[in-house]
Amino acid sequence: MFQQLRSFLGTRSDWSISLPQLPRHPSVGWLGPLVIFLTAAVSYLPFIGATGDDGSVTLSLFAGAASIVLMAWSFVLALRVRLIEPLFGGLDRVYKSHRWAGVLSAVLMFLHPRINPEIEGGILGASKNTADAAEGLAETGELMIYGLIGLSLLRMIPYRWWRWTHKLFGIPFGFASWHFYTAEKPYANGSGWGWYFSTIMVAGLVAWVARVFVRDNVGRGARYRVVSHELSGDLLTIELAPEKTGMDFSAGQFAFLRFDLPGLGEPHPFSIASSPSSKNLQFTIRCLGDWTKALSTAELMNARVQVEGPYGAFKPSGKLPQRNVWIAGGVGIAPFLSALGGTEATPDVLFATRTADTDPLVAHLRQAEQEGQINLHLFESSAGNRMSPDALEQLFGPDGLIGAHVALCGPDALVRSMANAARRLGASEVHTEDFDIRSGIGPERSVEINELAGQLAESARRSRSAATP
Ligand SMILES: Cc1cc2nc3c(=O)[nH]c(=O)nc-3n(C[C@H](O)[C@H](O)[C@H](O)COP(=O)(O)OP(=O)(O)OC[C@H]3O[C@@H](n4cnc5c(N)ncnc54)[C@H](O)[C@@H]3O)c2cc1C
Repeated sequence: MFQQLRSFLGTRSDWSISLPQLPRHPSVGWLGPLVIFLTAAVSYLPFIGATGDDGSVTLSLFAGAASIVLMAWSFVLALRVRLIEPLFGGLDRVYKSHRWAGVLSAVLMFLHPRINPEIEGGILGASKNTADAAEGLAETGELMIYGLIGLSLLRMIPYRWWRWTHKLFGIPFGFASWHFYTAEKPYANGSGWGWYFSTIMVAGLVAWVARVFVRDNVGRGARYRVVSHELSGDLLTIELAPEKTGMDFSAGQFAFLRFDLPGLGEPHPFSIASSPSSKNLQFTIRCLGDWTKALSTAELMNARVQVEGPYGAFKPSGKLPQRNVWIAGGVGIAPFLSALGGTEATPDVLFATRTADTDPLVAHLRQAEQEGQINLHLFESSAGNRMSPDALEQLFGPDGLIGAHVALCGPDALVRSMANAARRLGASEVHTEDFDIRSGIGPERSVEINELAGQLAESARRSRSAATP
């Protein structure tokens, strides 16, 4: 029993938190996070000099205001506006900023009432009764936020439940904003600062409504049909043909797929594995979770698919005379497949697999090598040949990566260690693609939890029908 619980809870590394990393060198991708930081940081200014019973209340009021600014940003970023993607370095990074803005907002929300928020001689934003009632609502909202953030971070909550709980964040944000607007502050709501914060709060609420009530319910994207599919082990390859005009994209980008099939209408992101020059789209999907498993057993032929995208700024290849090195683990090879045969310099592909002979991705890469599209370096863990920073140095030597363009996609720990090694060995560009938009802590347990929920529902149904005369 104890052993089962231990294996259910996963390993220590499942619970480690990976902190966000800005691109090493200044780039356009810094602008988005910088703007978020600045809009939150300037919230300090209107509270300078504010005093309360126990002296300064500046820090407490700043924490409350910055918490609201960050939460508003979190909603705006969840809208998946393609125009702002470059300011963050791709949609996966937009989502990272969304997540960390939300977490930081909760931390500041926790600090705000605990530092001394009672200002003296400020201006009330509404009548005393309204302000008191709004404060009560904000306290309820605060508890909701802690619960929702906890659920959000736990990776074992199946995605489709997580998605529903995630939509509720707008309610505590509304409560907190109403409290902020009505509460006593050093400035009036009609002043410049009043307008600054009100605009941000309204933008956050509008973004939340647009995301939850409009965007999630209105079908978006181009219409395609499944024209072929093949399941090999747990790897599903799907080809889609456009019903009208297809989608333009660059190698390395991804799209959200929604299938017009029962239980498969939830949008899931997948890298486009076909060449940008081909009309049809191909996807290579590892079916390990609840949604992808259901996909692998569904009647896919001719099914209609809505393809939303393209998104992402992942660049598999650099410009000549740069050396191209692609590093991938498992299905992390998917975004590179769209660049096969389309690169100026033949890339060196380092691919990590468990067993090469039974891996259909290896067969695909071996064929690409025979056609002269890549130089393949296989790392087969079952044969004791693991991909590692040392192996990278042995392969290219201490100077072999100077000025190179290195692109990586695969398991988080592998990508981080290999990216650091590539930088150490002198690579001038290191691009990574993250397959986990939600992220979080703890092991992935959606299949087990879904089975358990199914069993509970079934036994409830049985006891109901046994109780019916
Ligand atoms: C940019 C990007 C590109 C990707 N490309 C590929 C690819 O080419 N091939 C491939 O096999 N996988 C790819 N993935 C991963 C793929 O999206 C998930 O494995 C899949 O959605 C898991 O669904 P599931 O319900 O079966 O699994 P689960 O076990 O329920 O989920 C596993 C994890 O996948 C994430 N996830 C689940 N559902 C969604 C969703 N609707 N939207 C966003 N994230 C979700 C969550 O982090 C979850 O914890 C990509 C992910 C991203 C972000």
